[in-house]
Amino acid sequence: MTRMSTMKAFNLIIDGESVSTTDYFDVINPADKSVIARCPKANVEQLNEAVSAAKTAFSAWSALTYSERRVKLMQLADAIEAQAETFITLLTKEQGKPINGFAGLGSGFELGGTLAWIRSTASMELTAETIQDNEEAHIAIHRKPIGVVGSITPWNYPLLIGIWHMIPALITGNTVVIKPSEMTPLTTLLFGEIAKDILPKGVVNVVAGAGDIGAAMSAHKDIDKIIFTGSTPTGKAIMKSAAENLKRLTLELGGNDAAIVLADADIKAIASKIFATSFINNGQTCAALKRLYVHETVHDQLCEAMTNIAVSMKTGNGINEDTDFGPLQNEKQLDIVKALAQDAKERGANFLCGGEVVDETGYFYPITLVNNIQDGARLVDEEQFGPILPIIKFSNIEDAIVSANRLAVGLGGSVWSTDITRAQDIASRLECGTVWINNHAMVQPDAPFGGVKDSGFGVAFGEAGLKEFTFIQTMQTAKS
Ligand code: ADP
Repeated sequence: MTRMSTMKAFNLIIDGESVSTTDYFDVINPADKSVIARCPKANVEQLNEAVSAAKTAFSAWSALTYSERRVKLMQLADAIEAQAETFITLLTKEQGKPINGFAGLGSGFELGGTLAWIRSTASMELTAETIQDNEEAHIAIHRKPIGVVGSITPWNYPLLIGIWHMIPALITGNTVVIKPSEMTPLTTLLFGEIAKDILPKGVVNVVAGAGDIGAAMSAHKDIDKIIFTGSTPTGKAIMKSAAENLKRLTLELGGNDAAIVLADADIKAIASKIFATSFINNGQTCAALKRLYVHETVHDQLCEAMTNIAVSMKTGNGINEDTDFGPLQNEKQLDIVKALAQDAKERGANFLCGGEVVDETGYFYPITLVNNIQDGARLVDEEQFGPILPIIKFSNIEDAIVSANRLAVGLGGSVWSTDITRAQDIASRLECGTVWINNHAMVQPDAPFGGVKDSGFGVAFGEAGLKEFTFIQTMQTAKS
């Protein structure tokens, strides 16, 4: 208890105020399993207050011009930047990712992305589009904010995904109630503390809690839209309860992205990129490369090159500067990775490296490469969301395309080749929302990103992403 009392206190943010709760839950550092903070647990009354505050704030916020809202959001970015170190350390403690990490893709990268996304998204604007202007009528399409947006976020990029949800909603004139994952709520609560002093009260509200609060949000009659990033089963549950008031939805669900490496690929040039995009955030990335299909003529060369990189990696506590990869974020995810590895072993797959837990002080799992494995193995068919990659040999490109498309999910996919035209042709046959040629997992603020099939619907980023937070009002002005 005495240790607890020295910890920073976190509060909910409702109607511009820091609000304490009667219930709390522990937030665990996955690198050493210690309790880093107690998190306030919102009840349904507090959720109702947050929604009501957002509803009240909507009329004034939506009446502002884009440039007035932009000024506030840019101030928000500056205020977060001023506390960058605090955010980065807190993110490493609650999520596990290293401060710097392999290729600099750790907490500093997430904070940098947060700032870049706020500034870039806040610079965008939707304008009315005239579709007819003649002697009969002027007809224009206007884009109006929807109202109160509920955001439910996961634990892999808690700060950045919250920003991906909130900023397009806010710049287009909506107000927000956000519920971070119960595994990683702290950076979002810290964000709320800063936002409440910059934005008008009620424009951003933060409630913390588990799936029950998320479920109450998706059924809430005064939330007009939910944007959700998380698992497919939870996305389906949200969609069911959203029917109550015909809520608008953007669902960014799981993926199991395939990459296809053609015989003419330049293995020396691409091995490190394939490694980085497979293991980004320790594999806990929606659009990471998760199934690697390699033509038989270059299979051994790529396996060797990737193994050489893998064995030089250091997995450990991300607070240490020399750590490349941190722990899995939670025990449940570690257990999934272990179970998929076990199934692969039982099927006679070959482990090129890793495959055994060596350090149990945190939820650590080493970088693991597995070949001699086929479609049907759990490690291929199920999303691993962790640092273990199946490498599948193919001889016929048509078989590889069938393999890539055979699962229910369709978030991203990639083709690796020196023949760009052929690679683009093959990529266009992949059933997924983004295809990359000689890259994977790369997103940017102006390029739409979203899934198809069981990976969800709706897109984030760019003008298409902004439109998701608006409805169309067609204005017809008669002239005769
Ligand atoms: P995971 O099991 O990996 O945490 P989830 O998709 O269940 O993935 O979690 C993502 C987010 O969804 C979290 O914020 C979580 O609290 C929330 N959540 C979980 N269950 C529900 C639900 N039934 N309705 C709405 N949100 C939920």
